[in-house]
Amino acid sequence: MRLDVPVVLATGNAGKVREFDRLFAGGLHVVRMPAEATLPDETGITFAQNARLKAQKVFDDLGGAQAVLADDSGLEVTALGGRPGIYSARFAGENATDADNVARLLRELDGAPDRTAQFVCALCLIVPGPGGVASEVLEVEACSRGAITLGPRGSDGFGYDPVFQPDGWCQTLAEASPDAKDAVSHRGAAARLLLERLGRPGGE
Ligand code: IMP
Repeated sequence: MRLDVPVVLATGNAGKVREFDRLFAGGLHVVRMPAEATLPDETGITFAQNARLKAQKVFDDLGGAQAVLADDSGLEVTALGGRPGIYSARFAGENATDADNVARLLRELDGAPDRTAQFVCALCLIVPGPGGVASEVLEVEACSRGAITLGPRGSDGFGYDPVFQPDGWCQTLAEASPDAKDAVSHRGAAARLLLERLGRPGGE
């Protein structure tokens, strides 16, 4: 597929634009969402549904004239039946900080023999066609497996990084460099899958 134009990232977070631009490594150029677009409520019950909702709303807000990419991600913990999942950002309440969410996770896992978990990232890319309608919708999902540590370690990253130790690692993601995290992260894997679907270099 030809996609030589910048892709609008459906997020209000400038850090995410920089992160995806780095992850796509020139295979796709991501830009900030213009002010005329707004994000919808995340009413889906899966990561894929929420990514699709965000991509479709921003695509429609921009009159169907620009390619739009949206992501949704979170942490699924085996002993918690997959929670916090799509509620990862607000696990400890609507206005919870990362530290509140990590504290709740460690409390709920206290004494649990199984501490395995995975981060999941869903991406949805909508490509415009003639007449303001989508010519193509690409959806990919990837995960990164690991375990929740007994306590937080490291000061880099965000969210659950200080308590997530990828399989085969002895560090948490918050103790790793951004490059090392990209190589094993759910977002990195999803970005490479999307590039592969687009037939771009840098794909899996
Ligand atoms: P969002 O999809 O960016 O809204 O992410 C939802 C929530 O999942 C974040 O607020 C974090 O709590 C968690 N999360 C997603 N990706 C990561 C990650 O790479 N590291 C740590 N936490 C993450």
